[in-house]
Formats: sequence, structure tokens, C-alpha cells
Amino acid sequence: MARTKAQFKINGGVHPSYHKGLAAAKAIADMPLPALLRVSMSQHLGAPAQPTVAKGDTVKRGQVIGEAAGFISAAVHAPTSGTVKALAPAETATGAKAMAVDIEPDGEDAWVELTTHACWEETDPKQLVEIVADTGICGMGGAGFPTHVKLSPPPEKPIDTLIINGAECEPYLTADHRLMLEYADQIAEGAAIIRKILGAEKLIVAIEDNKPDAIDAMETALKDMKGDVTVLVLETGYPQGAEKQQIFAAIGKEVPSGGLPMDVGAVVENVGTTLAVWDAVVNGKPLTERVTTVTGFPVQTPGNVRSRIGTLYSDLLDFCGGTTGEVAKVISGGPMMGFAQHSLDVTTTKTTSGLLFLAPDQVSEFTSMPCISCGRCVVACPMYLVPSEISQMIEAEDYETAEEISVLDCIECGCCAFECPAHRPLVQHMKQGKSHIMLKRRQKKG
Ligand code: SF4
Ligand code: SF4
Repeated sequence: MARTKAQFKINGGVHPSYHKGLAAAKAIADMPLPALLRVSMSQHLGAPAQPTVAKGDTVKRGQVIGEAAGFISAAVHAPTSGTVKALAPAETATGAKAMAVDIEPDGEDAWVELTTHACWEETDPKQLVEIVADTGICGMGGAGFPTHVKLSPPPEKPIDTLIINGAECEPYLTADHRLMLEYADQIAEGAAIIRKILGAEKLIVAIEDNKPDAIDAMETALKDMKGDVTVLVLETGYPQGAEKQQIFAAIGKEVPSGGLPMDVGAVVENVGTTLAVWDAVVNGKPLTERVTTVTGFPVQTPGNVRSRIGTLYSDLLDFCGGTTGEVAKVISGGPMMGFAQHSLDVTTTKTTSGLLFLAPDQVSEFTSMPCISCGRCVVACPMYLVPSEISQMIEAEDYETAEEISVLDCIECGCCAFECPAHRPLVQHMKQGKSHIMLKRRQKKG
């Protein structure tokens, strides 16, 4: 086991105010069961799950209530025992609507029968992948990519490096930090399970240098692990936790345009996802809860809250004592990549890393102005794009040129907009361009 500093520096990036001190020292707190859990069938990338329960059914915790609709999809499980009160479309954090199952908890919190694999070293890797799929695990860092898909690379794409992502580079968020402090041994074992599945020789746990206690904790947890194991210390900066940037920082390889990490022999898993894999394999538990950082200056008691998936944002806030003073903006996730909310009548999913409340003096009102060609967005872009030019193409609805100048490589990190003195809506343009092009591609395919 070695501890090293990252040798490869990512391109661009920014240094926003981190404000992690609001919640970093707060131990994970378990929220009691709320009166209602509204569980979305669309918590992951890919096809939404198909509900398998009806109004009036009784369910147990961990029971499948939505089955995966294809390979790139994920199963959804009841987060507690209780009664299904309704099935109806509900608004998600992105503003889109998706089918959701309302469960009224019975207070028993009774699990379905669980099948444990404490001796996973003797379990076939294919069976371990099936466990990951059956327990509904998807990337918990924000993207929600179904984990069993990542863990099933084709034979022609062997994986030699597994990177466990503990960067948590988004300002304010501290849930992953706390997981590394409080569950280092379990995360280390989860990493060993994933490493076995992939047959990866190298294991790298990447953590930013603003979390020295987490670096120490993971180093201690990994000290007896055999083979090529490294705790990689990343310079603090945004977006060190983005998948492609982290791969470059760790092994100096660039994922090709339009490609996947497996194209350079790497897989990246977030620390929360890794812990969920451990819980699924060792304890047989489907993914029914997660830790969310509830934070921001207006929050009475900011903290890191473990709650059941499907918890209303309003209940999460109540658990943290509500707010004091005026709230100007609420964001699901972090301030750089999260989604602004117009209501707290939305529920958590497997990817709800944070719930952020901003005071009026933290939210600037501005009018977008014409580009002044300062080039700051170009310097900030970690993907070597020219955001100003792409943005202008999207505005002119010239999607063909936008595609030619690589809009699809945009990772929507927000660095360009963060730096733009003209307050151009650069990320909105990127998102608009990408969805337009992808829609056209789907229509062409029929
Ligand atoms: S949002 Fe896209 S264009 Fe802007 S900096 Fe990030 S990757 Fe570059
Ligand atoms: S940062 Fe804004 S003003 Fe400067 S070049 Fe980019 S889009 Fe134009």
C-alpha cells in the first residue's frame, strides 16, 4: 500500500468557495422513518424501472417494487415495510416527471429475507455482478449509471485499474467525506469485491488533499490489502471528481472523445457506491438508503443525514431544524452540477448527494450579456472545449457545427459559466445542444 500525490494535472478547472466546514465535522445522523416515502422509478441513467406492485399491496423493506427495464436500467426496492398507497407520476429533482410508488411505513421496518455472501472471495465474479444488479445499485456520486453495467466490460476491454472516487469536489458536500471516516473498512472491502469482479490489478483510492483525515482513514483501512494499492492524493480543485478527469489524474490516460473509461482499462466507482456494493454482497441488502448532505447558511443544523430513498426534501429539512432567515435558492446536489428546485415536494433518490439552501447574499442576480471574447471559459474548460463558440452555435441553432466542435464531450461541469464575466448561460446551451443532437440521433435510429 502506498500513498502518493497525483502526478498528472487536469486541464482547466476552477476553485469556488467550498464551505464544507458547515457539515464536514457532523457525524452521519439517522433520520427516523417519515410518514410517507415516494419512491421514483427513475433514479438511474437508462430506462425507468417498471413498477411491480399495486395500490393496497403490503411490502417489506428490500422487496422489489420496480424491476429493471433492460440491461441499462436498475431495480428499485421498498425502503421500508408498509402499504402502497398510490402509483402516480411525480416530479423529480430534474423537473421531469416519473412514475413513483408511495409507501406508508408501518413502523416495523421489516426486511425481506436477505441472502448474505460474507465469504465473497469464493463467489464467482459473475454471481457478484448479479447481486449488484439485483440489489439495484447505481452510481451514487450523481450520475446514477447502473453499476452492474460498469462491472460488465466486454472481454476485449480488460480492466487493469479500479479507481475509488473519494474526491467529492463539489462545494458544500461532505457525505462521501463522512462515509470514508466512518466506514473506511467497509469501503475498503467493497473495493476489494469490485476489484475481484473486474480482475483489476491496480486499486487506487483518490481523495482531495482538503480531507487529510479521510486520507488517513482509507490508508489505515487498506494497509493490509495485497497487490498494487494506492491512496492517491489529489490537489483540491473542481472538477477533480469528474470521471474522465480523475482517470487522467490517476493514470495519465485520456478517455477518447465519445469513449468510456473501459477504453483505457479503467473503471471509476464513487465511495458511496462502493459501500453499497459491500452492503449488498456481505449483508445481502438492496439499496434502500443513502447519506445526503443537508447544508447551506440558512439551515438551522446542517449535517449529513442517512435517510430512506423516497424521503421528501421537506422532511429532510425538518430533520435538520428547518431554516433561519430567507432562502433565495434550493439546489438538489452541489452548486456546480446540481438542479435548482422550486418546491420541497420532491423526494430523494439513490443519487441525492446534497440538498443545499442558499441565502439571498449568495445568489447574484444578473443579466446575460454578449460574449466579450475574454477566453476565460476556454481556460476553465477541463475538456479542452471552446464553450463561447459552442454556445454561439447553439444560440444560432447550428447544431451540426456544435457537434463538429465537440459539444457532446461537454461533461456539464459548469466551470465555463462560473468564470464567464458576461454571465452567458453556457451550461444551459451545452445541455440544450446535447439533448437536441441526441434526440435527432434517436429519431434517425427509429
Ligand atoms: S460545462 Fe462543458 S463546456 Fe463548460 S467547462 Fe464544463 S465541460 Fe467545458
Ligand atoms: S468567458 Fe464568457 S465572455 Fe469570456 S469568452 Fe467565454 S463566453 Fe465569452
